[in-house]
Amino acid sequence: MPSEPKGRAGSLLVDNIGELVTNEAGAGEGGPLGLRRRVALLVEAGEVVWVGPAADAPAADRRIDADGAAVLPGFVDSHAHLVFAGDRGTEFAARMAGQPYTGGGIRTTVGATRSATDGQLRATVRRLHDEALRQGTTTIEIKSGYGLTVADEARSVRIAAEVTEETTFLGAHVVPTEYADRPDEYVGLVCGPMLAAAAPYARWIDVFCERGAFDADHARAILTCGQAAGLGVRVHANQLGPGPGVRLGVELGAASVDHCTHLDDADVDALAASEGSTVATLLPGAEFSTRSPYPDARRLLDAGVTVALATDCNPGSSYTSSMPFCVALAVREMRMTPAEAVWAATAGGARALRRTDVGVLRPGARADLMILDAPSHLHLAYRPGVPLIRQVLRNGVPR
Ligand SMILES: [Zn+2]
Repeated sequence: MPSEPKGRAGSLLVDNIGELVTNEAGAGEGGPLGLRRRVALLVEAGEVVWVGPAADAPAADRRIDADGAAVLPGFVDSHAHLVFAGDRGTEFAARMAGQPYTGGGIRTTVGATRSATDGQLRATVRRLHDEALRQGTTTIEIKSGYGLTVADEARSVRIAAEVTEETTFLGAHVVPTEYADRPDEYVGLVCGPMLAAAAPYARWIDVFCERGAFDADHARAILTCGQAAGLGVRVHANQLGPGPGVRLGVELGAASVDHCTHLDDADVDALAASEGSTVATLLPGAEFSTRSPYPDARRLLDAGVTVALATDCNPGSSYTSSMPFCVALAVREMRMTPAEAVWAATAGGARALRRTDVGVLRPGARADLMILDAPSHLHLAYRPGVPLIRQVLRNGVPR
């Protein structure tokens, strides 16, 4: 607007914020959400540089009027499988008609993914990445895991790295059919040439530690090889039944153990004793889409465990890219408060990725944020299924 005074070059003021979720406990009301009212936020060079009362807002080159709406940090989706081909809608329909989920359908996607061109995989990753961004996700972790050959795993993480820095090598998603009677050999392949080919594009290594996938010995071997190659650890753990995944993850210093649907007291104690170092990432879209019992979020929160929410976006067991949907599920089905769910979907996801620059809105943080079509963060759970994300900024740039 020409009548406004010029601020520092390239600055952007988000003005008239009715409710700002800072995720800075102590910065305001609302406990860990650190809510501030009637504030403005100044962005320069992709970073938040000032937050203060709207009445004191400095001049800026450009201005966005939030018009009294709520502004939140962008969602941090710390668990997604976007590199795949094919569609499993028919399997979903069969499951809704009563067939159980076993994880075996992963092999269907592996076949389609191996047959796909790089261009087809890239188009799917970009489509889902953009779909997530429109729903407020400004940081997303993307896993490989549907290639399961050296070449297909390497290209999967390479294509993921084109859209995010949070890339994960999941060669140990399932033992592919051709190695069904030689799982030890497959683990050797994952730890050897597959890891060597994928590691240059990956920040993390992950294993599906579950009956029917990888047992504790195999998971430990793969994760320690990944650590030796400089990758951080995450684990798919305790999704389909009780098992060793959570405790193994904590023992190896995993940033996150994901799913946590079937936990015993020792699992919860181990997570609590990690004092937030290992986050429990809950993926309620998977329970929703497989009609399974939800994880006991209250038990984890009451024990002092740090909890994150993520989509698990994948074509088989959770084909949603919507973090607002996961927030609504967490509140309605897992008895998290709206504040706990919003924190888990933003700051919690950042903890699960060991990031301090996202999931918060304070000077020095990345200017990744969303403006809601609503006066409060509460509406994300209160108005489920409604497109409430009015505008998204990533690195200070309106998307
Ligand atoms: Zn997953």
